[in-house]
Amino acid sequence: MPLVITPAIVLASLRYSETSKIVRLATREHGVQSGIAKGALRPKSRFGAALQLLSDGVAHLVVKEHRDLHLLTAFDVTRVRIGLAERLDRYAAASSLAEVMLRFAPPDPHPDSFDLLRHALDLLEAAPEAEVEATGLRLLWALVGSLGFSPSLDTCVRDGTPLDPAGSLAFSARDGGALCAACARGQAATLLPADARGDLVALLDPDAPLPALDDRHAAAHRRLLSRFIRFHLGEGAALPALEFWERRPWTAA
Ligand SMILES: [Zn+2]
Repeated sequence: MPLVITPAIVLASLRYSETSKIVRLATREHGVQSGIAKGALRPKSRFGAALQLLSDGVAHLVVKEHRDLHLLTAFDVTRVRIGLAERLDRYAAASSLAEVMLRFAPPDPHPDSFDLLRHALDLLEAAPEAEVEATGLRLLWALVGSLGFSPSLDTCVRDGTPLDPAGSLAFSARDGGALCAACARGQAATLLPADARGDLVALLDPDAPLPALDDRHAAAHRRLLSRFIRFHLGEGAALPALEFWERRPWTAA
């Protein structure tokens, strides 16, 4: 059984038996993989505190051919992202990124998405407080895009009609982007006023300045993105982290 040594990020971790853990890892060279860390819950385990959610490290996996669960023999942690756990808005966005990666990354290697996720977690941890919300939106759109699901905003997603670059925009999460006036007729599309359209364009462009979103606009963008993910990647799966991020229950009165 080959030993695979690869950069990895801990996406999820669950208890397995009295002493062991199963972790889901995004790996750079081998896609998303599951590994059992035997003895990880023992007080003097060699894993120590290495298997924290969203930590970066180098995973040593003994890969069992044609099996879904491999043996994790070591995880040399290189970065523990404590800053993400300290504030719920950072944590909610980060766990949504992890959830999207976990559910939707193809089983084959996807180094671009891995690099993007790793960079995204660093940015979220370092973002000034006032920019966490918009940063999270931009990073989630970027990850969704790197997995092959960028929304179309310049031309109608149904018939390719070029769209007037000014004014409001009909956006259909179901169709995967903007609709021309003819296609939008009678459809349950979201009408983005010019300012919200401009904010969405800026969120999708990593080189544009981050838009300043008030609570109402931020909530609308979270709903839009969440719906987009559900339609294009969700396939009916429960996405609890995304739902938590979208609803921000911790801010409810
Ligand atoms: Zn159209």
